[in-house]
Amino acid sequence: MNTNLQTPIDYLKGVGPNRADLLRKELSIHTYQDLINLFPNRYIDRTHYYKINQLQRNNADVQIIGHIIALQDLGEGHSKRLVATFKDDTGVMDLVWFRGLKWIRESLKLNKTYVIFGKTNWFNNRYNMPHPDMELIEDHQKNLQSAMQPIYPSTEKLSNKGVSNRVMVKIMQQLFLEIKGQFAETLSKNILENLNLMTKHDAVFNVHFPKNQEFLAGAQYRLKFEELFYIQLQLIIKNLIHKSKIKGFPFTQVGSLFNTFFKEHLPFELTMAQKRVLKEIRADLGSNAQMNRLLQGDVGSGKTIVAFMSILMALDNGFQACLMAPTEILSVQHYNGLSELCKSLNIKISLLTGSTKTSERKTIHESLENGQLNILIGTHALLENKVKFKNLGLAIIDEQHRFGVAQRSKLWHKNTSPPHVLVMTATPIPRTLAMSVYGDLDISVIDELPPGRKLVKTVHRYDKNRLQVFKFIKDEIAKGRQIYIVYPLIQESETMDYKDLMDGYESISRDFPLPKYQISIVHGKMKAADKDFEMQRFIKGQTQIMVATTVIEVGVNVPNASVMIIESAERFGLSQLHQLRGRVGRGAEQSYCILMTGHKLSEDSKTRLQTMVKTNDGFEIAEVDLKLRGPGDLMGTQQSGVLNLKIADIVKDKDILQLARSYAKNLLTQDPSLSHPQNKMVLETYKLLGKYKNIWNYIS
Ligand code: ADP
Ligand code: MG
Repeated sequence: MNTNLQTPIDYLKGVGPNRADLLRKELSIHTYQDLINLFPNRYIDRTHYYKINQLQRNNADVQIIGHIIALQDLGEGHSKRLVATFKDDTGVMDLVWFRGLKWIRESLKLNKTYVIFGKTNWFNNRYNMPHPDMELIEDHQKNLQSAMQPIYPSTEKLSNKGVSNRVMVKIMQQLFLEIKGQFAETLSKNILENLNLMTKHDAVFNVHFPKNQEFLAGAQYRLKFEELFYIQLQLIIKNLIHKSKIKGFPFTQVGSLFNTFFKEHLPFELTMAQKRVLKEIRADLGSNAQMNRLLQGDVGSGKTIVAFMSILMALDNGFQACLMAPTEILSVQHYNGLSELCKSLNIKISLLTGSTKTSERKTIHESLENGQLNILIGTHALLENKVKFKNLGLAIIDEQHRFGVAQRSKLWHKNTSPPHVLVMTATPIPRTLAMSVYGDLDISVIDELPPGRKLVKTVHRYDKNRLQVFKFIKDEIAKGRQIYIVYPLIQESETMDYKDLMDGYESISRDFPLPKYQISIVHGKMKAADKDFEMQRFIKGQTQIMVATTVIEVGVNVPNASVMIIESAERFGLSQLHQLRGRVGRGAEQSYCILMTGHKLSEDSKTRLQTMVKTNDGFEIAEVDLKLRGPGDLMGTQQSGVLNLKIADIVKDKDILQLARSYAKNLLTQDPSLSHPQNKMVLETYKLLGKYKNIWNYIS
């Protein structure tokens, strides 16, 4: 038959229906193409043979030449096993099988020279190798084509059913025989020449059967580039299509609200970064396309004023605007802050959260629908169906990572035509990740803090130094400062965390007694009104210490608070620690962040703490976080198929990613429709990807 890469895997010689089924179920391999894309995890040097007396405990990938001198059935029932005594000229070891005993027993030959391959364990004072890959030495020498042997991803089921790595290698060899090395080139000549890349054919062959280390490196580079290039191409095209298809409301004028505010009421000089970002937003809003922009800026970089001035642009053009925040506290704070800014202008602004009273709710609904209300601030209560705008022109979402994609798209449908959307995040996303996950959003960055900000001094202290820490707190309070003490709250161990918090509160109350010291406490189990009451006491300076769980993490602004104590800091993630630290350092005073931990710390915890002590730069912290946790854990990116990379790794290959993105961009600038003959294969590859991947609908 005429084989091509879309041929079902069943047709490959040596596969057959059972194995085909296994490959489909275990590795999602349906076609020849899928099999080719099963890239080896690693490669081992099959020219090296161990002697038994060179073995060490838990060697992986060991290859030994020797022969079987005895076979024994041992154990009963579940522990039933076949044990072979394997000998070379330096010693003896055991080979052990737990499954397929009968078949294996029959196929083993005593006193014939074998090459065995596998992982060794130390058991009963002897080395053993469970379920070794075995070959008679003659076959081994015949089969050994490449000194670097690929090791393919596998599963327990596969190895149990006899699809060992050796079998995988054979299947792969067969595949290459059948398709006779016919791989269509997928990158243009231009790109290949510019970057001096290996051809598709050579790359695919060498990634499976590398001639040597150098060929392998070249093959991997080419394939990684290709993978990242096509992802970027898809994202950028998606962005372009979005812009041309989805008409936004053009905000044609910069009107009197904006100008009056800018000239007369701006409370401070904007930083260069704030000005630049406002220009970027202005350009989007003024164009005919709908804005879909991500605004990144470290804690305290001044995103709120940018949000407010963008809102003014909407209002000036006769539209309403809304700002959604993930918590009640943060919504209230935004509401208070923005109300203050609105005072000098004739603007109506309201707050809508879960605890808004029914009567007030009704008024808000009405004034929203008849257009009297200009700005609505709130929590996800804004997403309720009853909340209808007369003409929502701009939706701003603060602290994006707390909201799911689904919620974001709900906001979109608050209007006949989607409003402009500005997503603000204080958790800087590493550039590489932003490029891959938000590659279809436009990104603005505020990379400059307002002037006069002092960096927060950060130290790590052990629990046993608590007395010193308390002494330090007392000194700061004596100077008129306020203190946060934060306890972890992890959903799964909520009850225990709650106890920790209460115990901590009690002991702090003992060390900081009334009436000299006043303490606020805020946690998730309190009623919203009580929470607010306690927050307000702290904000007004009536209490000196705020004991809290992470509910204060986001956005709370008390400039007089100068010390952030984080209890059990080892239990927090880096971005959370950085967020928490951002609560202090907002006033003119030197601020401090003290990370309290027990003595036992994992390596990752140590890295996190050291990173916090070393730097205040949110982007640097985000990079470390990405390295520690991998992309899957960050911001729920696991649903985005984009990170399902086959060969590239967005942490390790970020240089290639950047290169790929710039090539994709350039290509689309020069040939937007990919219609130039020399880009024919790019267009074809791109079309194929669209068919087989669901990349188009992973984000809003
Ligand atoms: P975030 O980006 O974390 O939301 P905010 O918008 O809350 O930061 O701003 C933090 C603080 O800095 C606020 O008190 C705000 O008034 C102040 N601020 C913002 N921009 C400037 C500026 N250009 N100059 C001086 N202070 C500023
Ligand atoms: Mg903020």
